[in-house]
Amino acid sequence: MRTILETPPVPLLVPHGVFDAFGWCPSRTLEWRAPDAWSREARLTADNPPRMVFVMKTDVPFLPRELARLHAVGLGLDREWALAPYGIDDATDELYARRLRPDDALWLAADSLAGLFWGLHDWAHFHNHGPFTRRAWTEHQCDATALAWLWGNRRAIGLDRPAWDSLSAAAERIGAERFREEGLGVPPLPLDVATVEQWLVRSAPRG
Ligand SMILES: [Zn+2]
Repeated sequence: MRTILETPPVPLLVPHGVFDAFGWCPSRTLEWRAPDAWSREARLTADNPPRMVFVMKTDVPFLPRELARLHAVGLGLDREWALAPYGIDDATDELYARRLRPDDALWLAADSLAGLFWGLHDWAHFHNHGPFTRRAWTEHQCDATALAWLWGNRRAIGLDRPAWDSLSAAAERIGAERFREEGLGVPPLPLDVATVEQWLVRSAPRG
């Protein structure tokens, strides 16, 4: 199954200075591939789920890489390279430093809703560079962006409102823990659908 997800830019939701190059590259789309029997289980934890990986479209030798087929099953991959799962921060830094558009370099393999959430979260990182010194706020922007993109693509994904609400609530719990760790107040999640739809409308092309 191959789906082109719309990933329009989402407004800055966190204090200025959290990112040093917010939206350096306006996000457009993310190609997502999954086996037909992918899991719609909406349970989310703070850990990256297995079998979620960014596969390289072209040779990207400056990023840490591993064979994609070690991580993505059921997609018929052979010798394709993937961004090593530990290399998300490297990709965030290096794609920005070299001004390489993420959608020219990578597509997402994920076989679960949790994998799709974290893949979209990372997709937000790749388009918004920051020093990552304010982790809770940085992650908050990426969580909220991932939730907005999931809602915007709900028909293509086959995601219903209860599943989205459940993801949003789980993301809120994970985010609140980060804020607690940094001694900050609780972030403004969970999101409601009306808020997310406003962001998506604002980013829709005019004309
Ligand atoms: Zn993150």
